[in-house]
Order: sequence, then structure tokens, then C-alpha cells
Amino acid sequence: MSEGTELQKKLFNNKKNGWENLDDITKNEIFDYCNSYMEFLNNGKTEREIIKESKKIAQLNGFTDIKNIEYLKPGDKVYYVNREKSMYLAVIGYDNIENGINVIGSHADSPRLDLKPNPLYEDDGFAFFKTQYYGGLKKYQWTAIPLAIHGVIVKKDGEKIEINIGEDKNDPIFVITDLLPHLAQEQMQRKLSEGIKGEELNLLIGSIPYNDKDVNEKVKLNILNILNQKYGITEVDFLSSELEIVPAFRARSMGFDSSMVAAYGQDDKVCVYTSLTALMNIQNPKTTAVCIISDKEEIGSMGNTGMESQVFDTFISELLNKLGVNRPNLLNKVFCNSKMLSADVDAGLDPTFAFVAEKNNAAYLGRGIGLNKYTGGRGKGGSSDANAEFVAYIRNMLEANNIPYQISELGKVDLGGGGTIAYILANKGMDVIDCGVPVLSMHAPYEVTSKFDVYSAFLTYKAFFRM
Ligand code: MN
Ligand code: MN
Repeated sequence: MSEGTELQKKLFNNKKNGWENLDDITKNEIFDYCNSYMEFLNNGKTEREIIKESKKIAQLNGFTDIKNIEYLKPGDKVYYVNREKSMYLAVIGYDNIENGINVIGSHADSPRLDLKPNPLYEDDGFAFFKTQYYGGLKKYQWTAIPLAIHGVIVKKDGEKIEINIGEDKNDPIFVITDLLPHLAQEQMQRKLSEGIKGEELNLLIGSIPYNDKDVNEKVKLNILNILNQKYGITEVDFLSSELEIVPAFRARSMGFDSSMVAAYGQDDKVCVYTSLTALMNIQNPKTTAVCIISDKEEIGSMGNTGMESQVFDTFISELLNKLGVNRPNLLNKVFCNSKMLSADVDAGLDPTFAFVAEKNNAAYLGRGIGLNKYTGGRGKGGSSDANAEFVAYIRNMLEANNIPYQISELGKVDLGGGGTIAYILANKGMDVIDCGVPVLSMHAPYEVTSKFDVYSAFLTYKAFFRM
């Protein structure tokens, strides 16, 4: 090695592709882990389904509903499910909880289309559902692909009907149609953001008329009749439903080398899975380890299942109560002494669209977990910028555990930006840094991650809970 090469090795921040020189054992571990990850994605496409799956996994690993426990002691494992859509889990540490807790927070909701409250109508011999989009998405991407309907209809007596149609290979699927190119001259002149407009996102759901010459809206009647026979519902029951339109694709390995995962909803189910499985690996930690699976992140974290609600504080207060240590102001003190990884996906550099990235500060697929010191837009607006001291603490943890990582920002300075739940916990006084898996085609019906990074996130979260 020349003197300069040696000096370079010593002085440069040498970023490298994680797959390079990877031994077969680790590679197999990564692939096995991602097979389970893809199964998790196939079992849960909505926040309710993810919470149900996560609860199942937690119970299998010895976690108990906190409501059923009167006193807590070190080593105990508990969870709390909030309205079937968000969840908190904790493993009690042996250190005094006053010294703080270690939190990892992800979100289970993903961009999608929701049904409007009055969704069903008939037009020119077809029946449709009207939709309203949820989260930041490119509307044109949701046409001409197979779609499934997931969710619940709650009748006024409280009876809840769960819907999941379009996933089984014997199920029908649904499609939002687009215009043929032959007649799309005018449409093609629209701006891309209006290529498909909100009111054009109409889900095609049927075309056979009810067989009675005396009624009008025969196709609509036929659909309602099918729904009534199958689910016992009438049109008015849609008023109290939450039906979500999601891609009917399954999660798949991607590339000739199978190095990537293509799937719907990896933002942010990849961090849900990696942090949840990390917590499942924790026994008797020093510091109390807490996993947050939140909801409504994609629309601003508001509402009683979003991170802005008081439900999380109530959960931590319950831990303090049941540990028998609570007293006025202790909750705030615990928060101020706590550390958090805000586990959310990062924008991966896409060579085809490299013009939005600043290459020195972009996250690359295959280089390990991506940390964002700050997010926000237009001058770090709305961001909780992590302290250098805390970034150093996390760096030290990653390097001590030989975990590949990269620290990046979301695209070029003047181009846009984004946010996560980081600021909400930082506002409570915690040290927080964003940290997650780089994604290509984020918020599209089919998102891409590198298996290497997924596994590196799992290792990071496990190491953090062991601090
Ligand atoms: Mn996200
Ligand atoms: Mn998102």
C-alpha cells in the first residue's frame, strides 16, 4: 500500500457498498431475515393489520397486555394497543427508570386511497367507488394496477365487519382506469401532478345489472345486493367504515441477484418490522426498551392514534404507576433523560433521478442504515436537529457493533423536504435522531429497499435497545 493510500484510509470517511466482501453466512442471514420481513408485509398492508400481526408476534414472545398486569418488575414485557391502529411495547430494564428509557418509534400507516363516506355510484353501466387519497402520493401511479380493499365496516350497533378482498388468488381485484393514449392528447398536456386528478381516482367495482326492468341504477343495486349477501351491509353502513384501497401486489425479492425487496408500504413497515423484531430479541435490558408503532404519520401525526396524541404519555405513566415509582413530574423527567431513534425510511439515491440528490450527502442503497441528523425543508424548517453529542453517541454504538451506516439528508437543499415523528418526542425532551432504511420510489404503490439495509436496521435497533 502506498503512503497516500494508507493516509487516505486513515483520514477519509470511506463509504462502501455493504455487499462487497460479505461472507456467505451473513448473506444467508440477511436473505432469511428478509423472507420473514416479506411475509410480514404480505400479512399486513394497513395499520390495523400491522397492529394485529405485531400483537400476535409480541404475544408469541411472552408480551402481555399491560391492562392485565398490576405490578411491573425488571424483565417484564408488556404492550398496549390503541384503537387497533397504534401500539406501544416495553421491556422493563433493571436500571432506575428515572434515568430514562430507550425508544424506537416507527409508523404503520402508508400512503393509500380511502373510500369516501358515500362512495358507491353508477355511471354508464359501471359501478364505482369514489376515493380520497391518504398521504403524499403521485395520483397517476394508482391507475391501471391491481388493487385490493382492506378495512372495516362498523354497523351502528357496533358489529365490526372485516374486509380483505383482492389478496387471495381466487379473489377478484379492482382497478382505477386510465385513458387510452389514442385519445389522451389533451390529458398528456396536463401537468404530471394533474395527469390523474383526485376526482378521477374512481375504483371500478362492477358491471352486471340487477335483473329487474322496473328499477334504475341496476348495476349499483346488484353490487349492493352482493355486499348485503356477503357482509350483511346496506349502503348507509359505508358511512361508518374505514376501507382502504391498497395495491394487490405481494412483496417480492427483486433483481437477478435478489438483493432488494419490492413491496407496497415499506414506508414505514420496514421500520416497524425491524424495530419490533429487535425488541423481541431483548431480555432483561439495562434501560427500559420501548417500541412505538404509530399511525397517521403520513397525514401529520394528528388524532388519537397519531404520535401527537397523549396516549403515549399515558402508556409511560402507566409503566411508572405499575412499577410503583410514580410521583408528580416524574414523567417529564423520564422523557428528558430518554433517547430515541425515530425509525422512518430515507430517500435512497436513484441514479435515474440523481439530479435531486446532493451526492456527498445522499443515502445509497446497500450502504447500511441511513441516519438523518435533521429533516425538514427550506432551511431545516420543522425539523428537530439532533445534537452533535447524541449523533456521536449513536455513531459510537454503531461502530462498536460493526454496523454499517451512513448519515445523509433528504435531497438537494432547495428542492423540498420531509418530516417524521422525531420532533414530537424531541419536544418532550428526548434526544432523538432519524434513522431508517433508504427507499427507492418512496410512496409509490411498489417501493424498493436493499436487503442489506433492512438487516442493518435490525442490527442497529437491537444494539440500541442493549445500551
Ligand atoms: Mn415514513
Ligand atoms: Mn412517508
